[in-house]
Amino acid sequence: MSQENIFLFFVIICFISHSSITDILFLIFFVGNILIKGANVRFEFMLPYQIKEAIAKNIPVVLPIGVLEYHGEHMAVGMDTLAVTKILDRLESQMEVVILPPFSYGAASYAVAAPEQSGTLHVDSAALAPLAEQLFTGLLRIGFRNIHGVIHHQTENFASGMPTDLAFKIGARQSIFKFLESTLGEAWWGSKDMNDYYSKHKEGTDPFNWIKLHPLMDNEIINNYIFDHAGEGETSLLMALAPEAVEMSRISENNTWYTKSAKNSSSEKGELVILQIIKSLINRLKK
Ligand SMILES: [Zn+2]
Repeated sequence: MSQENIFLFFVIICFISHSSITDILFLIFFVGNILIKGANVRFEFMLPYQIKEAIAKNIPVVLPIGVLEYHGEHMAVGMDTLAVTKILDRLESQMEVVILPPFSYGAASYAVAAPEQSGTLHVDSAALAPLAEQLFTGLLRIGFRNIHGVIHHQTENFASGMPTDLAFKIGARQSIFKFLESTLGEAWWGSKDMNDYYSKHKEGTDPFNWIKLHPLMDNEIINNYIFDHAGEGETSLLMALAPEAVEMSRISENNTWYTKSAKNSSSEKGELVILQIIKSLINRLKK
């Protein structure tokens, strides 16, 4: 019996010996969570046999993408990255998924605040695109064909694109083109084996679906939630996901327009949108 199992055994005995209905419900949730969680793996913890299994089962491999950016005096600079990683922490108990270590060094931009003393850490998209290409090429070389980047930064403009997501999109496309050329040779698309390309494209099974980029919140959520920067929407979301990264007592230290609504934040509002985000993300990752 492993140390974890011995601990679990004692917890169970303690609960059963003087158990109320709440204790039992908690126990079911706790054990259930451990059992389901056992099916999921963080990439850095995977052994080669698990990687082979994940490739064979075409399990979605998710890269959390974020930035480090000033979010008012009351919120942590990692908000945009934490929004993705903490949602994935919850999502992984609900579906089989491989989660890669997050990439936090996106193009935050200095549009909100200059970096001096604010904590905004900007890396130019021109530097990100080649890095993204290398990263995706590496994942394709390993054998993954179901790769997803999830980002929460400036995603109200996701359809047209903003520097960080565009860099990762171009990196994804470039890596797929180069990978296909290096494995199938030039003129791969024109060869007779590809005569079903358009039907595969319709089905979503052509190679350009190997890597997809997603905003954390889809359009419907963005249109129905309080989508903002460090205001009521983001503050509520972070209060629910990582309460240790919000200090509501510092809200009065803000004097910026975009933080004015933050005083109306609550973790309850955050919890509601988290449910919608997880539901939508599961659907998008399963496609
Ligand atoms: Zn943000």
